[in-house]
Amino acid sequence: MRQHSIPETMKAAVMKEPGHILIEEQKVPVPKADEVLIQVMAVGVCGSDVHYFEHGRIGRFVVEKPIILGHECAGIVAAVGSSVTRLKLGDRVAIEPGVTCGRCSACKEGRYNLCPDVQFLATPPVDGAFVQYMTIREDMVFPIPDHLSFEEAALNEPFSVGIHAARRSKLAPGTTLAIMGMGPVGLMAVAAAKSFGVERIIVTDLEEVRLDAARRLGATHTINVRNEDALPIIRELTNGQGVDTAWETAGNPKALQTALYSLRRGGKLAIVGLPAQDEIALNVPFIADNEVDIYGIFRYANTYSAGIEFLSSGQHDVMTLITDRYSLEDTQKAMERALHNKSGSLKVMVYPNGMQ
Ligand SMILES: [Zn+2]
Ligand SMILES: [Zn+2]
Repeated sequence: MRQHSIPETMKAAVMKEPGHILIEEQKVPVPKADEVLIQVMAVGVCGSDVHYFEHGRIGRFVVEKPIILGHECAGIVAAVGSSVTRLKLGDRVAIEPGVTCGRCSACKEGRYNLCPDVQFLATPPVDGAFVQYMTIREDMVFPIPDHLSFEEAALNEPFSVGIHAARRSKLAPGTTLAIMGMGPVGLMAVAAAKSFGVERIIVTDLEEVRLDAARRLGATHTINVRNEDALPIIRELTNGQGVDTAWETAGNPKALQTALYSLRRGGKLAIVGLPAQDEIALNVPFIADNEVDIYGIFRYANTYSAGIEFLSSGQHDVMTLITDRYSLEDTQKAMERALHNKSGSLKVMVYPNGMQ
């Protein structure tokens, strides 16, 4: 194993039970032959982290023992296992958080986001990235150019969801797109749509601060659904036709229905946000009659290189999303901030090895 000088112990932010994160001293992990050790520099707080922090579960994934949260991360290669060839000490990298089996039919098809054996960071029982050092398999680690910040590299994770939605719903430069919900995933989806050359991006949300951020990222029309009715506005903006493609990113049943009705005939609907309930009423004759294509979107696959390239192009002001910054010691505060300041905070960032 080749390595820089690495301490024997490190700090880790461990969620002992939902709502309670303690800083613990742990042994710095040692990479296996095909793994690298990452000095973690920036970790974004994701909606799923906040959900585990608040409720202790997401669907079938239940927090049953202490867990380290955080999966949107970037850092520096600090040690490499004996068979690692693609990476070297000191490389600045983005980390794709789902380690797949590589052998199942989903993996072989290239749809490895559907791998039944994926080990996804911060999904019980797999520990995540609110630590100073972590090990991960070499192929999940992607070098970034010098001018890309660790924060931007960490944002490649939610950005990847947008890229995946764009690919699945076949976005093209001429597409008119509506995106419902401007949380961090929705905002990064705006940036992704812009990367795919989409020029007309209509977005909705309840919070003005999010709509402002959406405009900075490339949304051309913003609708505040607190005081405006989205459908007639979308019809008007599209000469009464409706949009080619609509994405729902908030997991909001009403927004999903609006997304469906905002489509033109032959339009495409992508379901990105996970609603709390299983069943939502959708107008089935409308779907059949208009030949609507519906795409489920689960995480992403094969997006990291493209994402890094898009984010490195300088056409996106994604740093505009980072509203709150915390040290690892204050991970508890970071989670509470993300939980309680939903109208003001966009992306909360944690810096396990100090703020740069
Ligand atoms: Zn995330
Ligand atoms: Zn697999």
